[in-house]
Amino acid sequence: MTQMDEILAFNKAFIERKAYLPYKAPSRPVKKMTIVTCMDCRLIELLPQAMGLKNGDAIMIKCAGGIIDDPYGNTMKSILVSLYELESEAVYVIGHSDCGMHGLTADKMIADIEKRVNDSVFARVAEDGKDLHQWLNGFQSLSDQVNSSVAVVKNHPLLPPNTPVYGLIIDPATGALTLAD
Ligand SMILES: [Zn+2]
Repeated sequence: MTQMDEILAFNKAFIERKAYLPYKAPSRPVKKMTIVTCMDCRLIELLPQAMGLKNGDAIMIKCAGGIIDDPYGNTMKSILVSLYELESEAVYVIGHSDCGMHGLTADKMIADIEKRVNDSVFARVAEDGKDLHQWLNGFQSLSDQVNSSVAVVKNHPLLPPNTPVYGLIIDPATGALTLAD
């Protein structure tokens, strides 16, 4: 049985026993908040639990490192959609310790890519006009990363006036939250 088969079999049973009922929620976030955080798999359940959030309470936007570095990139677009179209009223940017993006350099990632793909792909990337050395970087300081992501949101010309934007750091082992400073 493949993983996909297992998922589909599980899902059939999940629906049959109406296991979805405890997760019933309105389509707008009850706590009117938007969270931007890392895709780290340890945060799937821990982060909402550690913040007292249940299904339907918050909009959750996830990406590698929870980095918001492009004011017109997809993460910022998602934040704006949450604030203008989904009734959210505050933004929480939450980085975490022991993040895979901490210390990651584009040079390392490009070297890892080179081990698995044909060299010709880099010519295609160049044709697309993408500078991998700029695009694939992680960050070198967690608090600097969170603060700079917060600044991208706070300084965005399209941010609704008076929207609170907070920067936090979570420990993926204990769920402990601290303010980024
Ligand atoms: Zn991470």
